[in-house]
Parts: sequence; C-alpha cells; structure tokens
Amino acid sequence: MSAYTHDLVIIGAGPAGMSAAVTARQQGLSVVVLDEQPRPGGQVYRDVTKASPAVARLLGPAYRYGNALARRYADSGAEVRPGSLVWDIAQDLTVTAQQANLSFSVRAPQLLIASGAMEHPSPLPGWTLPGVMNAGAAQIAMKTSASIPDGRAVLVGGGPLLLLVACQLLRAGGRIAGIVDTMPAGNRGAALPHLPAALGAPAMLAKGLGMLGTLWRAGVPVFRRAEDVRMEEADGSRRVGAVSFSSEGRRQRLDADVVLLHHGVVPNTQITRLLRVAHQWSDSQGCWHPAVDAWGETSLPGCRVAGDGAAIAGALAAEASGAIAALGAAVAVGRLETGKAATLAGPWRARLSRQSRIRPFLDALYRPPAWLIDCADDTLVCRCEEVTAGQVREMARLGCQGPNQTKFFSRCGMGPCQGRMCGLTVTQILARSVGRDPADVGAYRIRAPLKPVTLGSVAALAEPDRITLPPAG
Ligand SMILES: Cc1cc2nc3c(=O)[nH]c(=O)nc-3n(C[C@H](O)[C@H](O)[C@H](O)COP(=O)(O)OP(=O)(O)OC[C@H]3O[C@@H](n4cnc5c(N)ncnc54)[C@H](O)[C@@H]3O)c2cc1C
Repeated sequence: MSAYTHDLVIIGAGPAGMSAAVTARQQGLSVVVLDEQPRPGGQVYRDVTKASPAVARLLGPAYRYGNALARRYADSGAEVRPGSLVWDIAQDLTVTAQQANLSFSVRAPQLLIASGAMEHPSPLPGWTLPGVMNAGAAQIAMKTSASIPDGRAVLVGGGPLLLLVACQLLRAGGRIAGIVDTMPAGNRGAALPHLPAALGAPAMLAKGLGMLGTLWRAGVPVFRRAEDVRMEEADGSRRVGAVSFSSEGRRQRLDADVVLLHHGVVPNTQITRLLRVAHQWSDSQGCWHPAVDAWGETSLPGCRVAGDGAAIAGALAAEASGAIAALGAAVAVGRLETGKAATLAGPWRARLSRQSRIRPFLDALYRPPAWLIDCADDTLVCRCEEVTAGQVREMARLGCQGPNQTKFFSRCGMGPCQGRMCGLTVTQILARSVGRDPADVGAYRIRAPLKPVTLGSVAALAEPDRITLPPAG
C-alpha cells in the first residue's frame, strides 16, 4: 500500500468530474483529475474550450454552457492531468494511469469515478461493416474536428441523442436520407403514465419537440416501428451501401453511404466492475449501474461514483451529482462538517430532482426493442473476438451459466475492448436463453488493464522516480 498523494482522485473531466473538482477545491481538498482526453468537457462538452465560434454555434447553447464550467474547473487549483488513461485501480484505491506512454500511480482516501456513459450496443446484421458507426461517434467528429459524414446518412434507432445528432448534422449541411425509428409501438403507451411527471420538466420536453419539428420542416423521412433492420454491403465495396427494414408492414430499403446507430446510453461500468462494487440491474434502462448512497458512495468505502456513470440523467444532473459526491468526500476527510455539507448540497439536490423528473418518461418512450436481443443467430455480438449471437445461445444450451463462462467457451468479451461493446448484449441473450433475469445471470468480471497499454508503460511503474510526466495542466 502506497502513501496518499492527494485527498481526492477524480477519474473523468466531464460535467460530473469538473464540478466535483471545483467543489472539492472550495473545501480545501487537494485534488487530481485524470482524463484520457486531451481537453476537459467529457462527452457532452467535448473540446468546448477550443471549439471555433462556428462549431459552438452549430452545437447550440447547451454545448456552449460547458465553457463556463470548464473555466471554473481550470481556475479551481485542481491538478489536472489530461491525456491520462486510467487502466487499473486496486482495492486500496491506488489508481494507475498512463500518460505520454508512461504509467504512474496516485492514491487518496477518496476516489470519485466520473467516467460517464457509453452508447447501448446495437447488434444488428451488418453493424460491423465500414461506414456503420454509433451516432455518438459522428457527433464526436463534429465536436473535435468540425467534420460530418460524407454522402447520404441513415440514422437507425431512437432516443434524444439520435434526434440531437440528426439536427446537428442538418445544421452542419449533412444529408440525411432517413431516420429508421426502431422504437416499438408499445413504448408510447408505456410512457404515457409518466407524462404528468415529465411535464414538470417543460424545457426538456420543449427541446425534444423542437428537434422533432426541425426534422419535420427539413422533410427528413422517418420510418416508424422499424423491425428486421439490416445493413447491406454495397456491391463489391466491402462498405455499407444500404439499410433494409420493415416499417408498418412494408419492406423498405434506403441507399446509404453512412449509417449511424443509436439505442440510448448506459452507464460505463468498466471501472466499478473492476473494483467489484455492488451493482444493480435497471429493468427500465436495460443496464447495470453501481449502487450508491445519497453522497455517491459505493459499497467500497471511499469510492464514489457521480454523473452518468452512476445513473443516466444528463449533463446538468451530472454536474449536480459531482458536486454532491465532492461534498461527501470533504466530510469523509474531515474538511467539512455534516450539517454544512447538507446545506451546501441542498440546491444541487433540487437540481438533480428537477432533471430526473423526465427520466421515467424517456426511459419508457425510448426503451430499445426486445428484438435487438433476439437478433439473428449470425449477428456478431463480440466484435473483437467475432462471436455471434447464435454461438452465445449455443453456449447457453450447453449449460453456460453466465457471461464469465462465455469467456472460457469462446473468448467472448476477452478482446481489446474488454467486453465494453458486448457485455450488456451477452448478459441479455443468456438471460433470455435460460429464462432467467439479467440480474441473476450477472456481468463480466473486469480485470486490468481496462484498455490496452504498452509493456514499456507498465515498466515505468518500477522506477517511479526516474520518469518525468508532462507538467499538470
Ligand atoms: C457518445 C456520447 C455523446 C453524448 N453527447 C451528448 C450531447 O451532445 N448532449 C447531451 O446532453 N448529452 C450527451 N451525452 C450524454 C452525456 O454523456 C451526459 O449527459 C454527460 O456528458 C455525462 O457527464 P459525465 O460527467 O457523467 O460523463 P462524461 O461527460 O462522459 O465524462 C466522462 C469522462 O471520463 C473520461 N474517462 C472515462 N474512462 C476513463 C478512463 N479509463 N481513464 C481516463 N478517463 C476516462 C472520459 O474521457 C470522459 O471525458 C452523450 C453520451 C455519449 C455516450
């Protein structure tokens, strides 16, 4: 066990991590923030500090809001280590990261994981063809390099982020050949009981209706209740050339140069799984999330989670939960008295509750279709090790009890992405195949390194005094 280097280590400089750093510094904690990206902002405010006025205008006021938060963060006095990929964390909360191809460790009595969300996998036939990507990836290209997909784009799936990316593409001059909306008919009925609560978040509802209006005015064709979606290869090109699907009883085919997939976002639980903290299965969001208390603390004392990594609630909620977790950390290290922390957390809790009102409505409206899990046997599930849905079903038939056994049977989940892309799908396919609840089937056991690192980088850990990291930002 090494000595403490800081009071608080934060992983992630998105809204949750930045807000936590600002709040913890206000309470006098020494803080280090590690983020694998070169600049702060996370997914939502990615590269906001260097975005050109044209890009900032294109991405809208919700994106530009991140600039003020990033400025407060830069001025907070936290030690900022951009470009630091966290690849291991020990049970004593020693965090090992790689920066400039050299690994180093930091340790504090308090750790905040603010590593955000990732897109729900969309295992559809042909989803590994070049030209097919997640909608979020297309948005990252807009934010980081002001580039948009070339040619006709078809968007497949559903959810607020899909609509947002479609509107941003249109504003940037992109060509949208159609939106293939895969949300089942029953979703609307299921969402209806949650509408009264959602009306308590009128700004968010108005934003959603505004996006639908933009797409309608632009004449973007929307194909509702799509099923049996397949990406087809363009003749001899080994690239996607079309999307075919059934919509309202008719078979359709749209030519496409690019296909953008999106079926919602889910907490990125790689780090919390590595730490073996308790997780819960959320049936409404169809994903795992770490169990946390009112101050973001997990079942491992001192280890907290905030933002979309704890529960999907959006950027403004992430900022609030980050601040609350930092106040909890300040109490734990003896810098803040409990009553004062409760007072300071009050306005943040009010914001969290306001931002969460619309969630049950959105979760029901945009619940991914069940047929995504019942995908055709030849659909690739684990892209790294090329394991198909049929092979996972066959493993279940042979007695495979859970995702960790699929690794022994087939290397499923053992590739470079360490199960990030296939974990949820494998859990759900196994659950469906053996007739059990996903909560009982469980999830992959995650081990270090979380992402590939070089041997030279690991070797640097043996001689920490001889390495010189780039100065903190
Ligand atoms: C692809 C994508 C695009 C999105 N776009 C939008 C949008 O435009 N508008 C919107 O309202 N919401 C968007 N969302 C939802 C959005 O993620 C959140 O609401 C918000 O960004 C959550 O904030 P956060 O601080 O919890 O996490 P994030 O903003 O995701 O920040 C997490 C940070 O952790 C870092 N990180 C993760 N793992 C590691 C590691 N191992 N080592 C080091 N650093 C690590 C990441 O680099 C990232 O900067 C998007 C989500 C996704 C997945």
